[in-house]
Amino acid sequence: MRYVSTRGDATPRTFSEILLEGLAPDGGLYLPQRYPRVDEATLSRWRMLPYADLAFEVLSLYIDDIAAADLRALCRKVYSPAVFGSEAIVPLRPLEPGLWIEGLSNGPTLAFKDMAMQLLGALFEYELARRGERLNILGATSGDTGSAAEYAMRGKRGVQVFMLSPHGRMSPFQQAQMYSLSDANIHNIAIEGVFDDCQDIVKAVAADLAFKRAHRIGSVNSINWARLVAQVVYYFAGWFQATSRTPGSGLTAAAAERISFAVPSGNFGNVFAGHVARMMGLPIDRLIVATNENDVLDEFFRTGRYRVRSATETHETSSPSMDISKASNFERFVCDLLQRDSARTRELFAERLPRDGGFTLDAAALARCADFGFVSGRSTHADRLETIRQVRRQHGDLIDPHTADGVKVARALRRPGETVIALETALPAKFAETIVEAVGSAPRRPEGLRGLEERPRRVVVLPPSAERVKALIEAHDPA
Ligand SMILES: *Cc1c(COP(=O)(O)O)cnc(C)c1O
Repeated sequence: MRYVSTRGDATPRTFSEILLEGLAPDGGLYLPQRYPRVDEATLSRWRMLPYADLAFEVLSLYIDDIAAADLRALCRKVYSPAVFGSEAIVPLRPLEPGLWIEGLSNGPTLAFKDMAMQLLGALFEYELARRGERLNILGATSGDTGSAAEYAMRGKRGVQVFMLSPHGRMSPFQQAQMYSLSDANIHNIAIEGVFDDCQDIVKAVAADLAFKRAHRIGSVNSINWARLVAQVVYYFAGWFQATSRTPGSGLTAAAAERISFAVPSGNFGNVFAGHVARMMGLPIDRLIVATNENDVLDEFFRTGRYRVRSATETHETSSPSMDISKASNFERFVCDLLQRDSARTRELFAERLPRDGGFTLDAAALARCADFGFVSGRSTHADRLETIRQVRRQHGDLIDPHTADGVKVARALRRPGETVIALETALPAKFAETIVEAVGSAPRRPEGLRGLEERPRRVVVLPPSAERVKALIEAHDPA
């Protein structure tokens, strides 16, 4: 498999070449030249596999420059019950007739980002060792991404993480989760400012090309193809679990059976992985995109208009990991909608978007959204609280605010006879404040995380200055 840019750079690159990179040189995102198709016989064979081996099968269709035995060993090390808490790794549980929940948040940081980030950590360590190189990951976080990255990279050889977060602005649990890590290669930097200040510093450091090169600055953001492809696996795993538990479901019956996924969405990485699984031939009926009050994506699927929001139009909500002003993976989807017309994709994202703040796709392209199975809906703070409360009362199941957005939209859009798998993207323990608001009591915390707030902390507080951050990196990475 080779990878090309959404914006027309057609130089074919291997997986290992794009693994440590962010954007393609022309500013586009990498896509595989084509989506490999899997047939019914392959699906029947994959159905029997443990998650780690299923992951190997899916990944090996996209990665052909890592030895198969090595890739399989990496998958087995990462997707183990010790890391994800159960043999199933992504256990499916029934909520009500026609609605299941797939648990993607049983990894070390209690959010689905662990599913991809844990693999990325293993792949980075492997690839850096092979090249005899080192990497300094610089990132900004307001919550889930930073902690998932730190837990994935802790103790990894060849990698250091420098993670900026807004001082005092993350939830106490999120702060404790990150700042309590004592690994020598993890550096927490609390910036006296807001999240945008952190992001500006990352951009300023990355723009200093000499510094970037000398200190091998890299990132782990959501546009990384390796993260996306890791997420494709749990669509297969969820589909297998749902079809094997539905009475009388041989594969053919199951294929006819109409299974859909509801996906709490922000940067469009998670649901894009569902699109890839569907393009590969997994019989997914619909992909239901759920947004919160930041409804850039819902507006697009309803109207064909993609309009990036300004900072003042971007709301701080109680499902904060979906608070986006633009969806960073969306360009990949638009490129597919335009049937890989990279000249038009470039025009929309490199010219129209910066100039007009948005664009509108024509009717033919919008119709293709339906062909790809996409529908959308939105959820609000009141919907979220009501859904958490109602699911708790009716089913005795406690879900987190992001998952609640997915369940709310799944219930609103589900058609008769359709089976919807709602993806659980975080555990309630991570968002105690909203849970208390919804049900009046705090969520239980997994065993190993009790007393997290009392552990010693490793964090450096700095003013919002790129120079100060560079000096800190230099101190830990003498050139
Ligand atoms: C990141 C995140 C999302 C959004 O996922 P995208 O891939 O950005 O669409 C949803 N819920 C939680 C809990 C997250 O951490």
